[in-house]
Amino acid sequence: MTEPIVADRQRTGPGTATPGREPGQDGAAIRFRAMTKTFGSGEVAVHALRGINLDIEAGQFVVVLGPSGSGKTTLMNVVGGIESPTSGTVEVGDRDLAGLDDRQLTAYRRDDVGFVFQFFNLVPTLTAIENVALVAELVGEGEDDARAALESVGLSERLDHFTSALSGGEQQRVAIARALVKSPQVLLCDEPTGSLDADVGRSVLGVIHRLARARGRTVLLATHNSVIATMADRVLRLRSGEVVDDVLQPNPVAPEEVTW
Ligand code: ADP
Ligand code: MG
Repeated sequence: MTEPIVADRQRTGPGTATPGREPGQDGAAIRFRAMTKTFGSGEVAVHALRGINLDIEAGQFVVVLGPSGSGKTTLMNVVGGIESPTSGTVEVGDRDLAGLDDRQLTAYRRDDVGFVFQFFNLVPTLTAIENVALVAELVGEGEDDARAALESVGLSERLDHFTSALSGGEQQRVAIARALVKSPQVLLCDEPTGSLDADVGRSVLGVIHRLARARGRTVLLATHNSVIATMADRVLRLRSGEVVDDVLQPNPVAPEEVTW
């Protein structure tokens, strides 16, 4: 087995900056205060998140690490405006998500957040360009922007292919293009390499990292694979709905060098 490359690590403290990096151009800072999320109530209540207090800087590339059931997806969904917190607050940029009405929340999800999922969630009966253009049009971008987004993920040769005919890695690239065509302030990637081989996964991570970095996007990337954490600016470890470790990595490993 290949020895994982370990990045330099240092403890975070309040207000620690991402070292060697300008504040994000377009990314939003994310602030959690005593945030909880409970599903159900009474005897069947599931405490998915139990009091999250965090400040994530604009432009930070954060890997959220934890075993299955630790609350990673719930955290992403709260930031993405898909779930609302049970208590406490979540602010993204200057928005307090709990203070948004349904209309504002819809606009926030549509315009400001990009999602990349484990199973791509593309429309299989549409081509690559149609999948991306669908979202581009929602936010007032055109087909040119969709084409440019697909080119940026290396798929200019696959524009007119049905996504069902693309490989897993190619499908995930389409999904990344779809997420980024809206120029989101926050990019949420939930187990984006979970259904890909290591080689393909590595190149997908490289694409996410390069594009997010180029535009200063704030990224939350959830995974149970601790090796992937070596490429992060910051690693949050979740266990049973709590942050049990929070580490800054001033010299993250290049995504291409991450091995698993
Ligand atoms: P992870 O992504 O780390 O696997 P999740 O955020 O999906 O964790 O889940 C955290 C906990 O919350 C788990 O115990 C899970 O069963 C529970 N959970 C998640 N979503 C729901 C839901 N919609 N209804 C009830 N329980 C849920
Ligand atoms: Mg999950």
